[in-house]
Amino acid sequence: MTVRITADRATCMGSGQCVFTDPDAFDQDDDGKVIVVRDEPGTDEERDRARLAVQICPSRALALAEG
Ligand code: SF4
Repeated sequence: MTVRITADRATCMGSGQCVFTDPDAFDQDDDGKVIVVRDEPGTDEERDRARLAVQICPSRALALAEG
Protein backbone atom coordinates (compact mmCIF):
# COMPACT_ATOMS: atom_id res chain seq x y z
CA MET A 1 0.00 0.00 0.00
CA THR A 2 1.25 3.44 -0.91
CA VAL A 3 0.21 6.42 1.17
CA ARG A 4 0.97 10.00 0.21
CA ILE A 5 0.44 13.01 2.44
CA THR A 6 -0.74 16.22 0.84
CA ALA A 7 -1.13 19.64 2.44
CA ASP A 8 -3.14 22.67 1.36
CA ARG A 9 -0.89 25.47 2.56
CA ALA A 10 -3.54 28.09 1.72
CA THR A 11 -5.89 26.44 4.22
CA CYS A 12 -3.26 25.81 6.91
CA MET A 13 -3.64 28.22 9.82
CA GLY A 14 -0.32 27.36 11.38
CA SER A 15 -1.48 25.72 14.59
CA GLY A 16 1.42 23.28 14.54
CA GLN A 17 -0.60 20.29 15.66
CA CYS A 18 0.73 18.21 12.78
CA VAL A 19 4.34 18.93 13.76
CA PHE A 20 3.57 18.04 17.36
CA THR A 21 1.89 14.79 16.26
CA ASP A 22 4.38 13.70 13.60
CA PRO A 23 7.60 15.73 13.67
CA ASP A 24 9.27 13.37 11.21
CA ALA A 25 6.72 14.17 8.51
CA PHE A 26 5.87 17.84 9.09
CA ASP A 27 7.60 21.15 9.67
CA GLN A 28 6.52 24.79 9.55
CA ASP A 29 7.95 27.67 7.57
CA ASP A 30 8.65 31.12 8.97
CA ASP A 31 4.97 32.02 8.57
CA GLY A 32 3.89 28.90 10.45
CA LYS A 33 2.54 27.23 7.32
CA VAL A 34 2.96 23.48 7.10
CA ILE A 35 5.77 21.90 5.11
CA VAL A 36 5.51 18.18 4.36
CA VAL A 37 9.05 16.88 4.76
CA ARG A 38 8.20 13.19 4.34
CA ASP A 39 5.19 12.71 2.11
CA GLU A 40 5.32 8.90 1.85
CA PRO A 41 5.25 7.21 5.26
CA GLY A 42 6.88 3.84 4.83
CA THR A 43 5.91 1.84 7.89
CA ASP A 44 2.59 1.05 9.58
CA GLU A 45 3.62 3.18 12.54
CA GLU A 46 4.47 6.12 10.26
CA ARG A 47 1.17 5.73 8.41
CA ASP A 48 -0.76 5.68 11.71
CA ARG A 49 0.93 8.89 12.83
CA ALA A 50 0.19 10.51 9.47
CA ARG A 51 -3.49 9.53 9.76
CA LEU A 52 -3.63 10.97 13.27
CA ALA A 53 -2.08 14.22 12.06
CA VAL A 54 -4.69 14.46 9.29
CA GLN A 55 -7.50 13.87 11.81
CA ILE A 56 -6.14 16.35 14.33
CA CYS A 57 -5.54 19.26 11.92
CA PRO A 58 -8.07 21.93 12.96
CA SER A 59 -8.24 23.51 9.50
CA ARG A 60 -8.55 20.24 7.51
CA ALA A 61 -5.51 21.26 5.52
CA LEU A 62 -4.03 17.75 5.37
CA ALA A 63 -5.10 14.71 3.39
CA LEU A 64 -3.89 11.20 2.73
CA ALA A 65 -4.11 9.57 -0.67
CA GLU A 66 -4.09 5.82 -0.15
CA GLY A 67 -3.85 3.31 -2.94
S1 SF4 B 1 -2.15 21.05 12.02
FE1 SF4 B 1 -3.09 21.79 10.12
S2 SF4 B 1 -3.38 23.97 10.45
FE2 SF4 B 1 -1.90 23.27 11.98
S3 SF4 B 1 0.14 23.62 11.03
FE3 SF4 B 1 -0.48 21.52 10.57
S4 SF4 B 1 -1.50 21.64 8.55
FE4 SF4 B 1 -1.42 23.71 9.39
